[in-house]
Amino acid sequence: MPTRPLPTKPCARCGRTITWRKAWERDWDSVRWCSDGCRRHGVTQVDRDLEDELERLLDARTRDASVCPSEAARAVAGGGSVPDDGTESWRALMEPARMAARRLVATGRAEITQGGRVVDPDHAKGPIRVRRPR
Ligand SMILES: [Zn+2]
Repeated sequence: MPTRPLPTKPCARCGRTITWRKAWERDWDSVRWCSDGCRRHGVTQVDRDLEDELERLLDARTRDASVCPSEAARAVAGGGSVPDDGTESWRALMEPARMAARRLVATGRAEITQGGRVVDPDHAKGPIRVRRPR
């Protein structure tokens, strides 16, 4: 019997790939989260703001330009959605900003690069850049 690749889908929060498991045989269609952590947190308004901000930043630049997730984190942290007490609260949004970037990749709206090369968003470690697909 030929083996087919298992179905996959992106996690609704972090954008990482979820791969089909036997345990999900009956409710695969309703699986949305890769982990309990993602399910508990869900997708908040701040998460959506980060995604929108990344899109806005990309649209504001030339098609070839890339943006850093920290730019979206800073913009959203300073934009009122998160209380800014003068400490660098945007840092708390860095991981959510990377998740937002992965969601854009999962829906074909962006690519994640490191050193100018497109990388697998599931496994990229260290600083990343986000750009429109080429
Ligand atoms: Zn997840």
